[in-house]
Parts: sequence; C-alpha cells; structure tokens
Amino acid sequence: MEPLHARYPFLDAAREAVAGADVDLASVVAREDPAVERGRDRVEAALTDRDVGEPHRRTRTELLSYPIARVLVSLVDQSVLTRWYAQAEAAAAHERFTAELTSGTELKSTSGDSLRLRDLLDEFDLLGAVEPVGGPLASADRYEMAVGRYLELTAGAFDEEWRLVNRELADGAVALDRSELLLAVREAIRQRVEAGLPLSVPDAVADPLAHHVEYLEGVLADLDLTRDIDTVVPELFPPCMQALLDDVQTGEHLEHHSRFAITAFLASIGMSTDEIVDLYEVNPGFGEEVTRYQTDHIRGETSPTEYSTPSCATMQSYGDCVNKDELCERIKHPMAYYEAKLEDTDDDELEDWREQAGAES
Ligand code: SF4
Repeated sequence: MEPLHARYPFLDAAREAVAGADVDLASVVAREDPAVERGRDRVEAALTDRDVGEPHRRTRTELLSYPIARVLVSLVDQSVLTRWYAQAEAAAAHERFTAELTSGTELKSTSGDSLRLRDLLDEFDLLGAVEPVGGPLASADRYEMAVGRYLELTAGAFDEEWRLVNRELADGAVALDRSELLLAVREAIRQRVEAGLPLSVPDAVADPLAHHVEYLEGVLADLDLTRDIDTVVPELFPPCMQALLDDVQTGEHLEHHSRFAITAFLASIGMSTDEIVDLYEVNPGFGEEVTRYQTDHIRGETSPTEYSTPSCATMQSYGDCVNKDELCERIKHPMAYYEAKLEDTDDDELEDWREQAGAES
C-alpha cells in the first residue's frame, strides 16, 4: 500500500493494493480498526463540508477508510448522500492532483509516488481521447478532447460554458484549457466513485457498522435534505439567500456559484421553474431563457443530476455567506436554517410568497 493509493483510493492500483494485502473487511469492522472511524469521517465531511475530511497519518488506515466509506454510504442508502459523497471524493481528489501537477512534483519525483497527468488520463480511458496543443502533455496549456468523451464528462455540468454550442469544436475535438481538462477528470472520478453504489453488503460487515450508520442517518436528518419543504417566505430565508435574492432582484451581476446557490435553494424549497422565473423577473437585466435553462438543469430535468443547495461551508468558501446571525452559529446548512425558522413561526403567520403574488396579479 503506497501513499499514492491512500491519496487516490479510487485508482485501480489502489483497489489492487487492498486486494493484494488480503484484507478481511469483516474483521476490520469487527475490531473497530481506526479505518472505520476515518471512513465515517469521510462520509460525514461529505455531508457537512462537501469534503472528505483530514487524511489519517497512516497510509493503511487512510486507504482502507475508502472502501469502508463506500460500505457506509451503501448502508445508509439515500440518493442525496450517495451523490454528495461521490462529489466530495472527486472534489478532494481534484484539489489534490491540481496542486500536485501544478507544483511539478510529477517532474521531480523518482519515487513512483507522484501522480502524472498521463497516468491520470490513462486511468479513465482519456489518454487516447486527449491531445496536447503546443506542448508536451504534462505541461501544455491547451488540449483537445474527442467530442464523444467530452459529452460523457460534461452531461451533468451546470455551467453554460460547458455546453457544446458554446465550445470551440474542430475535427471532432473540443478545445479545453488545462484547468478545464482537470475538471473533466474530476467528473470522471465522480462517475467512478458513484458507480456501483449502493453496494450489496454482507451482514458480517453491516452488523458491526450499525451504530455508525445510525450516526450518519442522524447527520443527514439534521441537515434535513430529504424532507420536502413547500413554503416560500422570503423574510425567513437565511441571510445569505436573502442577500443573493436582493442582488438578483436589483439587477446586480451574480457570479455563477452565487446564482447556482440561490436557484438551487429556491428549487429545494418547492418552487417550480415558472415561479423562480417570476420571482427573478423584477430584475431589469433578467434573462428568462438563461434562468429557465439553469433552473431546469439544477432540478435535474435537463441533466442526469439533481443539484442540492450548497452547505454553509461551501457558501463560505465562495464568499456567499454574508450577514450571519445567531441561528447561523447552530446550523451547517442554509436549508436547516430555513427549516428552523419555519418551525419557529406560527402557521397562521406564514404567508407564502406565491399566494401573495397570485393575489396581486
Ligand atoms: S452560516 Fe450558512 S445559513 Fe448562515 S448566512 Fe452563512 S451560509 Fe447562510
């Protein structure tokens, strides 16, 4: 088991290393090996921070925590968790390999422990589909990717700039810069992590993990991502969403991540695409077509993925967490904030924006 395997546990070589070490997962979980705790951390961090947490200092523990995390995700068996977990593993790997490839360790290292772009592309059957432009593969700034592979890797992309109509396409290949190529690899990782989940887990592995599964179900329930809210009271929105909605309605330009956050939030609280379009329409620079496209995409109607509202950690990392109040200190997700506000308000004081809007029209 190499450190490289622990850093990128979804690689075929990492899987082979675990198989070669003849590890019996049932006995690992039965004796509460530290890998179990770390596996649970991976999953919890995916839910609360869209990350996989701090790596364990021991290579073996870190590597084994990956199959354990997959088992835990399978036992909880909630599609939102599966989706977020795969996104988190891919995001963490993307951050790591972007740093490693940029720092030039692939050029300097002779230990075999570094990750080379060539190996990464090869791992996901991309080597034959990607050509560097104007330089060697390892250090080029521009690449071309065969259009078929490009479409497979961008079908779930939210941003309009990934749509084929907005790309430079020549001779069956799509032009990408280096950061876009690495984002495409991130998607390939996400697809691999998600593939096969949920696993079929034998009782000998599932039973000793029951309390960890219960714990994760509790974290999921606290985030309340699975409950249907169908009430729109903008005055009770979390401060971040109120600020973003104000920006939309006053015609401020919103960065892509900000527009994504407010649109995903509105879709999550039960608003239809038409209602979101109506709510945005106050904006003088409003683009109905773009809003419809983005909203349908977020809702999963024009994409394979239904997107969730970003967590507080993600909002903070993008600078979208503003005007925090006292309730913000007690929650980890804007949906949890809104639900707490709804619960604290008498039903007869809740005036749904859609009813007001209907009465005025
Ligand atoms: S803490 Fe969370 S809910 Fe509160 S403003 Fe920040 S992102 Fe929004």
